[in-house]
This record gives sequence, C-alpha cells and structure tokens, in this order.
Amino acid sequence: MSEITYQYIRDYLMAIEPDDDILIREIREEAIKDNVPIIKSEVKNLLRCILLMQKPKNILEIGTAVAYSSIIMSDCIGHDGKITTIERSDMMIKKAKLNIEKASKENSIILLEGDAGDILKSLEGTYDMIFMDAAKGQYLTFLPDCLRLLKTGGLLISDNVLQNGTVAKSRFSVPRRQRTIHNRMRDYLWELNHNPNLKTSILPIADGLTLSYKIDSK
Ligand code: SAH
Ligand code: MG
Repeated sequence: MSEITYQYIRDYLMAIEPDDDILIREIREEAIKDNVPIIKSEVKNLLRCILLMQKPKNILEIGTAVAYSSIIMSDCIGHDGKITTIERSDMMIKKAKLNIEKASKENSIILLEGDAGDILKSLEGTYDMIFMDAAKGQYLTFLPDCLRLLKTGGLLISDNVLQNGTVAKSRFSVPRRQRTIHNRMRDYLWELNHNPNLKTSILPIADGLTLSYKIDSK
C-alpha cells in the first residue's frame, strides 16, 4: 500500500489502461503472485513514452528480477537496441532466463550475473540510458559508476526512491533498523538534485521515480 498516491486514482487509471500482450500479462501476474517487486503500471507507461521519445539504443538496467522491465523496455527500442541487465539472485536469474527465452529476446537482452557493485566497475563503454532498480541502500554507491557509464545527453532513471513516503518523513519516525537506508536514500536524492552534471526531476508516482538528465557541466 503506497502512501504517496491515492488508491482510487490508481484504480481509475489502471481501469482505463489498454491490455498488454499476453506474455507481459503472464509475467506480471506471476511476479505479483510471487511478491517480486516489478515496476508498477505508471512506471511501465512512462518508461515506454520516454524510450519512444529518446530512442536509446544501449540501455543498462541494475536489478533484472524476472526480466519484466527488461522485456518491456526491449519492446520499445527496436531490433538493433540492446539491454544489458544485472542480477545477483540465482532464483531470479533462472526465471529471467526463462522469460527472455519465451519473449525471444536472447539477442537483445544481455543478462549479467553477479553483484552490481562488482559488475559495474568492470563495465566500459557508454549507455544512452540507465535504469536503477536494485537494492535501495546501494543506489548512492552505484552512482559514480553510473555517471561514468552514462553518455552526456543520457538519462538515469531510478525507481522506488520514496519508499512508500517514508523518505520524506523525519528519521526519528522510521524504525531504527530502517534508518541507514532512509539516510542513504536521502543522500542519493540530494546528490541527484545537486550534482553539477545532472538535471533531476523527482516524480511522486508509484513508489517514487527520478529522471536525471546528464548534462555537460563544462
Ligand atoms: N527491474 C525489475 C525489478 C527489479 S527488483 C522489474 O521492474 O521488472 C530488484 C532486483 O535487484 C532483485 O531481483 C534483486 O535480487 C536485485 N538486486 C538487488 N541488489 C542487487 C545487486 N547489488 N546486484 C545485483 N542485483 C541486485
Ligand atoms: Mg522498482
């Protein structure tokens, strides 16, 4: 249950949405049943619009889970577009591979298996877009490598930045064991807003989403 959006508005918006393809629907339903935290519907629709507008050819995703968002993004960037996606959980990797195969995306989605902290350091080249959707406490640690890998004029999109609204509340109101992650997410949002190379928009939709455009700071 999200505290940053009204349920009746979400219900209405979802009721007027067109149906997705059968495969997307099946992957979504299974993920929801298994409590896999896939992107919400409003993020899915926004990602599609952004990808169709920006036409990135090379996308990096951190946090594949069952490859739901990878397949959705891949559908929007044409046959010559590539998604490189990182996942560390063996169980998720197994499901992701199966779904990538079902979607016939073996040639456009490259799954890198392991911890993003290590894999990001080993990556070279540049990406037109990066979708950050892994462990929330690690976003800030991943940021320097993301900025190194993102082209000028590229977009860094981060999901789940408001954590059901708790990020906006005083640290004293969150349980002690959640304070580290609360602090880290606040530091991350501060950095996205104040880094001279980024222009950031924080959208209070779904579980909180940021769009950060990389500029040339001179
Ligand atoms: N992007 C997916 C959902 C990802 S859920 C979608 O919307 O369809 C977050 C995933 O990130 C989980 O599967 C988790 O195992 C993975 N993850 C978290 N921290 C990670 C890390 N440090 N390295 C690699 N994967 C990580
Ligand atoms: Mg997410």
